[in-house]
Amino acid sequence: PTFEALRLAPALLRALSDEGYQTPTPIQARAIPEILAGHDLLAAAQTGTGKTAAFTLPILQRLQEKPLKSAARQPRVLVLVPTRELAAQVLESVRTYGKHLQALRTVLVFGGVGINPQIEALARGAEIVVATPGRLLDHAGQKTIDLSRIEVLVLDEADRMLDMGFIHDIRRVIKLLPGKRQNLLFSATFSPDIRKLAEGLLHEPVTIDI
Ligand code: AMP
Repeated sequence: PTFEALRLAPALLRALSDEGYQTPTPIQARAIPEILAGHDLLAAAQTGTGKTAAFTLPILQRLQEKPLKSAARQPRVLVLVPTRELAAQVLESVRTYGKHLQALRTVLVFGGVGINPQIEALARGAEIVVATPGRLLDHAGQKTIDLSRIEVLVLDEADRMLDMGFIHDIRRVIKLLPGKRQNLLFSATFSPDIRKLAEGLLHEPVTIDI
């Protein structure tokens, strides 16, 4: 298929053509329509498969289609990642694919650096938060982030997060989110632990294993 056939918005198609992308990768072809339709997703995807665009593109589209009435700019999308490097990569994707859209604000939240700049960025408001689980919980504990308006939760490289011992943090974060939301879980492998996490988290998910 083509990106046009996936019903992506013209502004996103323009960004893809700026990047020189001609066709969707297999994970993109399968995942984008399901995410646009609002389904939960369990996707097996290694790095290099184009998985970041597979969730970034439809999420950007949905944010634009359903603008918030208030100007409050509470986060609407939460992407949990294992490392700051991956957080930076997701931010870069949002910038690249969203560049022709009405500006969306993104905040990165990760540990090992001062918390105050993150607190200031969160206070300025952002639609998208990309975070490692531990530091996100620090913000939640200090009430410097409001997770009550999250519409979409993404767990990226979920198997790596479990390997790094984040399972309890992830479960604690999930408890802070509103019940009605879309959940997208990406993992290179489907271990029993991943399946267990998925079972508790995902609502009638579409499974993609390519
Ligand atoms: P990822 O699997 O998300 O780490 O992406 C791997 C690389 O593939 C990134 O450098 C992307 O910029 C690139 N990429 C993603 N989607 C496409 C596509 N449809 N065509 C060509 N390159 C792509």
